[in-house]
Amino acid sequence: MDYHLYINGQWTPSASGQTFETVDPATEEPIATVARGTAEDINQAVEAARAPFAGGWWRTKPPAPARLLYDMARAIERHAGELAELETRDSGKPLNRSLAEVRSSARYFEFYAGAADKLFGTQIPLGPDYIDFTIREPMGVTAHIVPWNMPLNMVARSVAPALAAGNTCVVKPAEQTPLTALRLADLFAEVGFPPGVYNVVTGFGEEAGGPLASHPGIDSMTFTGSVETGRRIMRAAAEHIKPVVLELGGKSPHIIFADADMEIAVAEATKAITANCGQVCSAGSRLVIDNAVREPFLEQLTARMEALSVGPGMDNPDMGPLVSAEHYQRVNGYIALGQEEGAQVITGGGRPAGLERGFFVAPTVFDQARPDMRIAQEEIFGPVLSVLGFSDEEEALEIANGVAYGLVAGIFTNDINRALRLAGRIKAGQIYVNEYYAGGEETPFGGYKQSGFGREKGLEALQSYTQVKNVAIRIR
Ligand code: NAD
Repeated sequence: MDYHLYINGQWTPSASGQTFETVDPATEEPIATVARGTAEDINQAVEAARAPFAGGWWRTKPPAPARLLYDMARAIERHAGELAELETRDSGKPLNRSLAEVRSSARYFEFYAGAADKLFGTQIPLGPDYIDFTIREPMGVTAHIVPWNMPLNMVARSVAPALAAGNTCVVKPAEQTPLTALRLADLFAEVGFPPGVYNVVTGFGEEAGGPLASHPGIDSMTFTGSVETGRRIMRAAAEHIKPVVLELGGKSPHIIFADADMEIAVAEATKAITANCGQVCSAGSRLVIDNAVREPFLEQLTARMEALSVGPGMDNPDMGPLVSAEHYQRVNGYIALGQEEGAQVITGGGRPAGLERGFFVAPTVFDQARPDMRIAQEEIFGPVLSVLGFSDEEEALEIANGVAYGLVAGIFTNDINRALRLAGRIKAGQIYVNEYYAGGEETPFGGYKQSGFGREKGLEALQSYTQVKNVAIRIR
């Protein structure tokens, strides 16, 4: 398979003529050749995105995005099986997981289709001599730099609200997983989006992402990825005073109190760190557990983790491989580091038996972790759980808030007062009570502290893709 860039509704080779390969993480074999975009391609894509915006592609009655986004949702659903297979081959994730992410992508388009013709302004009372109202206008050309952990879903999450508000988009997918963002381009054309509204430039971070982030012709930047790259994106955006949304990493606590329903809590704690092989920004990667139930809980947790199937995503196991050789090294590096730091592996700790090729790591639990250890502070982004015990609510809170991140937190308890007390005091953008990953496309998502700022998902995301103009009129 050969993939070009998608610019102005056309499949285009990169200006340099260079390409790169994307690899199936389950077999380590190349599966496709993809254009290696650079600054020249970014210039073309930004220019292509400018034209339909300047032409007011969305300014119709009723607004064009409303119908087109609905059609896009239906098109994604029609192609769900094919998109899921492509995602699994490119990223390694189990087929059912890919299918769920594809369906969720369709839901983003559907949700924002419903919002596209309801972007109302407000009327502000200024007394009898004035009429004052606000208009919400699109930003213009919006840039989207996307990570590899949920490739299609992250594109849908930020592109759908941007388009609903009348913007145009230039997308830079992650170099590890560019295929579904490209396939999506066919569907944009099929349902009738004007050329230039959705553009994709594939390539590497510094070569393609860098020029996009610093391009004077973009009007906003949505970046989802690591803190380190987020910093660079912010610096680049500062040069031309461009607004940014930063959706960065996490080291989220999952707090289990002794009064919680243990069976459900064990199942949720397992899901929180093994879903998508732990490659989820909001993964519950720190198990903060009441010492009163620590031992029986860990016994059940390890049994559950050891019962999970691990294998190639196409076989639909519970857990697939990590995304790349580089990431495989990184996660294994943290497993070695945890042992050096004095934490104890009670299950997992390396490659599962019987899987010789592919970037597979068994679900791994570190007991005896301390809050100051690097495995309890840094984002590992794999199926590696650090267990931290507590004696009372105050200590649980201190551990929960004791990291640089603040993306999400899970609380398991049957005491509603305690749940609400903690929900108020934990510094994180989302709180899950008695179900990890509770929420949906409808609920705002984003970080406190170094997990970033700005909100994706829900109606809240539309704030990032619109600007408010106030019109004040004196009646004479
Ligand atoms: P990354 O920062 O390395 O890469 C993300 C994207 O940025 C890729 O497309 C990459 O090519 C691009 N990039 C890299 N260097 C760049 C540069 N100098 N200039 C411009 N673009 C550049 O992150 P990753 O390793 O791909 O993704 C994992 C990270 O993403 C984790 O920290 C994870 O928590 C985070 N993440 C956050 C969310 C969220 O919603 N908060 C969601 C998913 C992933």
